[in-house]
Amino acid sequence: MNSATRIFFKDLALKGIANQFSTTVKHNANLNLQVEQGDKKEGANVVIFELGLKHTHKEAYQINIDSSEIHIQSVTPSGAFYAMQTLVKSIPVQEVSEVHFPATEIKDYPRFAYRGMMLDVSRHFSDVEMVKRTIDILALHNLNVFHWHLTDDQGWRMEIKKRPLLTQIGAWRDNTVVGRYIGGNDYPTDNQRHGGFYTQDQIKDVIAYAAERYITIIPEIDLPGHTSAVLASYPELGCIEKEYKVANRWGVIKDVICAGNEQSLQLFKDVMDEVCELFPGKYIHIGGDECVKERWQACSKCQGKIKQLHLKSDSRFSKEDYLQSYFMGEIAQYLHSKGKQVIGWDEILEGMPMDGSVIMSWRGSFGGKENAGVKKDVIIGPATHTYFFYIQTLGSKKEEKTGGGDINSSADFCRNIDSWKIESGCHHGPCHSHVF
Ligand SMILES: [Zn+2]
Repeated sequence: MNSATRIFFKDLALKGIANQFSTTVKHNANLNLQVEQGDKKEGANVVIFELGLKHTHKEAYQINIDSSEIHIQSVTPSGAFYAMQTLVKSIPVQEVSEVHFPATEIKDYPRFAYRGMMLDVSRHFSDVEMVKRTIDILALHNLNVFHWHLTDDQGWRMEIKKRPLLTQIGAWRDNTVVGRYIGGNDYPTDNQRHGGFYTQDQIKDVIAYAAERYITIIPEIDLPGHTSAVLASYPELGCIEKEYKVANRWGVIKDVICAGNEQSLQLFKDVMDEVCELFPGKYIHIGGDECVKERWQACSKCQGKIKQLHLKSDSRFSKEDYLQSYFMGEIAQYLHSKGKQVIGWDEILEGMPMDGSVIMSWRGSFGGKENAGVKKDVIIGPATHTYFFYIQTLGSKKEEKTGGGDINSSADFCRNIDSWKIESGCHHGPCHSHVF
């Protein structure tokens, strides 16, 4: 491949991919390749993209390389996109006058239909440029889902026009813990205000950018726990009267949204109206993890709601667990009415699992044994193997900013994923990793 190489796309649906290939080769190797629609013309030295590959996997592709051409066939444009990424990975990221590919045949298709990664922009805000860079890296690795963790205790990152305080107040914290947080209230901070959020126009831009790379975005609005940023913005939604602050440390925080207050539901419905308006995908992640029940146990509104709903503790779960199921169920129903399906962390199995919900299993157990009989689609992303803020070198004390704990081998997880699938009883079989 050199500056005389021409790229042909036979099907109009592949024009964008042919152009992306040309742009990427220019960016990485400073080679200018012309893009043309149609069949190969006279002569050799061409790259051809075409549809029409016969294969049962819609993302399958085939690359044939001989002395005259690189021929890419795929079932759908997404397959052509992954073929392009395979070629891109063989091109040096430095200025060259030509690139040599060995004569070869590659037949490829993905093992999992869902291939995702989460980026937590609440704990550490990433600007749009960084989010797009992350999406580029996902695309390079053939991932097709970007899970955008937009809200948490440490910052609310999405503009909500009806609820402006969520970003005016909730997007900013006064300072951040230095090093690894190991508990207690006495810890050093950096004295630097940290924050930021995405306007709805920026979010639309990122969604379009991801779509061009065959990546669907799943937004996450975490509720009813991990909501310090909401409480700082709307303190009347807490169970007790106090001054709430956007959190400056990691970990689990016992102040959570009051589930007995109708206004709490209304806030999240207002948020979901705008989330659904923006994000075209089928799934909305509504969190559900690490919701401490201490405030609810002592709150008259929460206990009043428990009474009104006749919720009772049993041998497996507390009445407050069932209150969380009720609260999340209301939001899930609201989203169903808008044609969306919900994803929740595996804590949503504690109580009454919502109809049609998908479990994102981070604790590794999938609630499998304690919830025998509950059949759910599961997205498998155990913290022990796929949380990249765990320590990645054995015995290292240098990785001060990690969450603590050693990460187990991701390769081992991938090799054994079938047994994880069997334990979870899931048939979805997707794979997911998490970056904080
Ligand atoms: Zn309450």
